[in-house]
Amino acid sequence: MALAQQKPDPIARRDPAAVNAVIAVLAAKFGNRLVTSQAVREQHANTTTWIANEPPDAVIFPQAAPDVQDIVRICAERRVPVIPFGTGTSLEGHVNAPYGGVSIDFRDMKRVLAVNSQDLDCVVEPGITRKELNEHLRDQGLFFPVDPGADASLGGMAATRCSGTNAVRYGTMKDNVLALKVVLANGELMTTARRAKKSSAGYDLTRLIVGAEGTLGVITELTLKLSGIPEAISSGVCPFPSLEAACNAAIATIQFGVPVARIELLDELQVKATNLYSKLTLPEVPMLFVEFHGSPAGAAEQAERFGEIARDLGGGPLAAAPSNGRRGPRTARGFGRRVTMPTGRAARCAPARRRSRPMCASRSRGWRNASPQHNATWPNSISSHRF
Ligand SMILES: Cc1cc2nc3c(=O)[nH]c(=O)nc-3n(C[C@H](O)[C@H](O)[C@H](O)COP(=O)(O)OP(=O)(O)OC[C@H]3O[C@@H](n4cnc5c(N)ncnc54)[C@H](O)[C@@H]3O)c2cc1C
Repeated sequence: MALAQQKPDPIARRDPAAVNAVIAVLAAKFGNRLVTSQAVREQHANTTTWIANEPPDAVIFPQAAPDVQDIVRICAERRVPVIPFGTGTSLEGHVNAPYGGVSIDFRDMKRVLAVNSQDLDCVVEPGITRKELNEHLRDQGLFFPVDPGADASLGGMAATRCSGTNAVRYGTMKDNVLALKVVLANGELMTTARRAKKSSAGYDLTRLIVGAEGTLGVITELTLKLSGIPEAISSGVCPFPSLEAACNAAIATIQFGVPVARIELLDELQVKATNLYSKLTLPEVPMLFVEFHGSPAGAAEQAERFGEIARDLGGGPLAAAPSNGRRGPRTARGFGRRVTMPTGRAARCAPARRRSRPMCASRSRGWRNASPQHNATWPNSISSHRF
């Protein structure tokens, strides 16, 4: 290993001279849109978990794609890292700056550039959050369905290829991003694709960037697929005698083609935490939280079919979800088991995973698995559903 030890580190550790030079150039160009105060720098590193906070050297607030191109070019010249920042809701220390560098905060880039209601798509800047976008779309009867619970930015959601309980029906970010504009490491602006939903031309650069966590480029514009707001939404909670029975009910629901919109599994410990946190009185047994979208008759029929499946597996009855001012599964968000897996393996994997990972209590978020990588993804997933 002596040879490896002699190799220079390809990523320069914090180089104070380079950082100071970059900060001076950026300050001259961007004025008070560059901030170096300790408090702001710490807000732009990991704040959501126990992972240590590793602040950047400066935070900058661009207002348009050419600003981002300038920032990236200036930093690249001196090999100072850049860390794009949406709303900082990522849970694995994504926004930390272990080698220092400049955090690019998209707070001031949140315009909706176009809504093509007939084509069911829109074009937005990366800083807009999913709630802000859905507020903008509501009057047109449209919504953007990917919902990770947190009010994350669309740029951050694309960069983390995020999902959420709605993924069962509407897919994840990989299914809902049509095209991106991305500033590459040399400052060039790349367009990955056009609005067309069907194209076989060229490499699928959109999917390469979605999930790249800012390592391949900085997203400055997104073209997104939209869905119609369903006429009726009904949510329910359903108890089961065991985790296996709950998992088997989820598998059967999907196998029977019931177009469930959301489905989330809570084990008895998580139900207990939910009761304590949301002041509910749910029975403390494994539970599925479900939501059905469609016409009033369609949603009712889906709920009935799900109730039958649950009954066959010893579960039920399916009851209307406790509202608490929010809809069904959302009431228990933050407590859900963050496991994504092929549906068919759920009955084996969910109980095994509970045995293998100790649970820990966190005052702010309830119960969490004591692992930074709580989004465990099994390889070769045919279809990943959020449980
Ligand atoms: C209560 C709660 C529940 C959650 N539930 C889920 C869930 O069910 N499923 C799920 O997938 N996630 C979930 N998350 C995680 C989180 O919401 C996602 O990671 C979110 O997509 C991050 O978006 P953000 O705007 O906060 O990005 P940030 O946290 O700011 O950044 C995340 C990453 O994206 C990069 N990035 C940000 N903006 C850009 C850009 N413009 N260009 C390039 N890279 C960029 C950053 O550099 C970083 O690597 C949950 C989080 C919380 C707090």
